[in-house]
Formats: sequence, C-alpha cells, structure tokens
Amino acid sequence: MKSAGPPVQCDLLLESGAVVTLDPARPVIEDGFVAISCDRIAAVGSKDEASAYRAARVISCRGRLVMPGLIDCHNHLFQSLGRTLGEGLPGWEWLGRFMWPYAAQITPEETRAAVYLGAVEAALAGAACLLDHHYGRTDQAATLAVAEAIEEVGLRGVVARGVAGGYTALAERQGLPRNAFSLSGEEELAITEACIRARPPGSKVVVWPGPINAVYTDQDLLAAAVEMARSYGTGWHTHLSAPRSDPEVYREAYGVRPAVWLRDNGLLGPDTVLAHAAWLDEEEIEALGSTRTAVAHCPMSNQYVPYGVMPMRRLLESGATVALGTDGSTCGHRQDLFENMKMLVLMHRLADMDPGASSAGEALHLATRGGAAALGLDSGRLEPGALADVIAVDLHRPHLTPVHDPLAALVYAARASDVVLNIVGGRIIVEEGRCTEVDQDEVMAEAKARSRDLIRRIGLR
Ligand SMILES: [Zn+2]
Repeated sequence: MKSAGPPVQCDLLLESGAVVTLDPARPVIEDGFVAISCDRIAAVGSKDEASAYRAARVISCRGRLVMPGLIDCHNHLFQSLGRTLGEGLPGWEWLGRFMWPYAAQITPEETRAAVYLGAVEAALAGAACLLDHHYGRTDQAATLAVAEAIEEVGLRGVVARGVAGGYTALAERQGLPRNAFSLSGEEELAITEACIRARPPGSKVVVWPGPINAVYTDQDLLAAAVEMARSYGTGWHTHLSAPRSDPEVYREAYGVRPAVWLRDNGLLGPDTVLAHAAWLDEEEIEALGSTRTAVAHCPMSNQYVPYGVMPMRRLLESGATVALGTDGSTCGHRQDLFENMKMLVLMHRLADMDPGASSAGEALHLATRGGAAALGLDSGRLEPGALADVIAVDLHRPHLTPVHDPLAALVYAARASDVVLNIVGGRIIVEEGRCTEVDQDEVMAEAKARSRDLIRRIGLR
C-alpha cells in the first residue's frame, strides 16, 4: 500500500464504505475504500490509506456496504415474459405443458424484450455477470441479440446457446413436444459455431455451447458440442439431473447414470458448468469432484418446482466448484442472488437439521468467488488487479439497522433492492438504484406489452 509521495491517479474512488472484500487475508474493512483504474481494481484499503489515491470521480459510500458484484451461473432470461405462470405443475409437466410451448413459440422481438427485462433486473439486483442458458429462439440472430441485450445493459455474460437437436426416444417417452426439437444436430452445431465466432472468448458477453439437458439431449450431439467448446476454448453448460427421476430414466435408456457417462467420455472438467445436479450418487459426486467440474446450485428453483436438495457439502469436499444460479424467471421468479444466498443456507440447515450445514460466509463465497471460478473470470473479490466489478448496498434501511455482522446482514437481512450502485469493469451501470445504460421504464413497458401478446397467442392462461 502506497503511503508517501504524490497521490496515485485513478479513475474512480469509492470511499468511506464498509468493504466486504471476499479476500481471506482481509475479509472486512470497516471504513475503507476501493480505487479503480480502467476495468481493474487498483487498490483496496482502510480510510487512512485512501489519501494516497486521487480520482477523476469520487463516490462516497458512507452508510453503504461495498462488495464484489454477484455472479449468476444459471439463468434463462427469455422466460421473463412468463413470470408467475406454470404455478404448481410438477417438473416434467411444467416443461411439457408450459415451458416448451412457450419456448417453441416466442418470437425474436419477444425474446429480446424478455432478455432486456431480465438483464435490467439482474443489474439492479447487483449482478455483474450472468450465464444465460438460452433456448427457445436459438437461430443465429436471436442468440446474438441475447448477447447484445445483456451487454447493452452493461453486464458481463455467457450465452450458452441451447442445443436441442433431434427428438430422442427419451424426450418422446417423457412427453416433451416434438416441435421443440426442430433442428438437426448438424444445424445446431453450425449455428452454435457461428455464434461462438461472433462472440469468442475475451468478449464481454461470450457464447458457449449449451446442450439443453444431459439427460434428454442426444449423446453424440452433446459430445460434439463439448468438442466444439474445447476447440474454441470456451466453456460449456447443460442441465443435469434436476428432477429426481432423471438419473433413473437415463439409466434405463442407456445403462449408466448421466454424470458417469459424461466422465467416461471425457466431457467433464473445469470448463463444464452443470445446472442443478440435485440427484447424484457417490460415483457421480466423485466424477464431478475429481474433474473439478463446476455446478450451478439453484436453491430457489430447486425448492419451487421442487427438485430436491443438491449434495453441496459432498460436492465441495470432493473438489467440485459450486456456484449459484437464479434459474429462469418462471421458476426462480426474480433475478435475485441475495434471495438465493439466503435460500441456500436455509435449505441446507433444514435438510440436515444442523445450523452448521452452511453459513452466510459460504453463501457469499459461492455467489462471488464460486461464480468467478465456474466462469473463468478474474473477479468475485475486491483485490488489486481483479476486474472492477463492485456493488454498494445501502445500509440506511430499517431491516439493515443495526449491522453487527456484515456477512450475516448481507445474506439474511439485505434485499436485492438495497443495491444502489453497480460497477462492471469500472463502468457504472446502476447509480442511485437506476440503470444508467438503458431506460429501465421503457424496458418494462415493452416487456409488459409483449408478454400480453405472447401469452394470449400460446393460450397459456
Ligand atoms: Zn434451468
């Protein structure tokens, strides 16, 4: 830390805030600052060290808590226009009667409106980055429009392009609509490749292959999609065993459990992000752990559908990376990682009937550092050199008075709507609780109008 000589010039200085760094060496600085230069954090320290820095812009964070931007590793933004529908349907029926008809009929304009809405909501809720598993309209233009919308709101992102391919016997047996599997495997791969080329690694919003589900996507197509990911140096994403029956249904069809098949075919690894993974046997947990595979834990949707309680502790012990996901707006309902952090702790405490089953510190770690590890980002912590993805939470609220333990306050008491400032890559995308890059009122009005058309057309009500 610099203490003598002329002040160091930087672009942005957040001063006088309580800083939760997620850096184990210095986890909480009661009265601290964060200095930002270009897209990186230049310095983090206590009040008395701040005078060593001068900035073009200084923002007082007095009465605020400053922390890393949150990372959402499983989402479906296109679902935002169907929020609150499908209530009470069990897993496969929810897909067959609600989500697949919705996904098959949504237009490119509706997709765009839905993605803008979800991205605005995520930005206001303190997300810095989200992985959007995009199925529904997945032609090249629609997929790239999703990436553009996320970027225009100011977020980092991964668009994992949903790869459905041919109608498998298993999809038919489970009652999924045939029209959701309209493209051949070759067409799916060609479009995915074109999208990756348009948004290669290094882009603010990248494209990855996202086979829709490890259970009912054709095995050869899934393997080819992973091969494509590896040839371009991207990650890849899919759903794995959210409904309890999935591993059994898969074993009946293929004679092996899905995560074991993925491991045996060399498809797992640190470039792999699996959503849910609620139902794993010990061999599958070992398969994910030994390959350092990442899993996106979705506590909200896992309880809502309900899918089940992911074996988080065993996965972490075995070496897997665990991150957090909000899932789509139709089963997660909000782009709200604060809610998911709290749900995570509560669901594991209740499942184990043990207050030591998880903690506020663990939930925060998963929503920041865990997400960064899963997506290969140099972020998720406030440390010099890391990407300048920083949020501030306003503590001047009755439900945040008093704060004796900042970590517990963030996870159990704070709401996503307490986020007042969101900085992604050194750029302010939310200030005083309003989006700065897009007109959030216009985005909401358009989403509302388009949702009426869509829902009427599909006849979902
Ligand atoms: Zn999902």
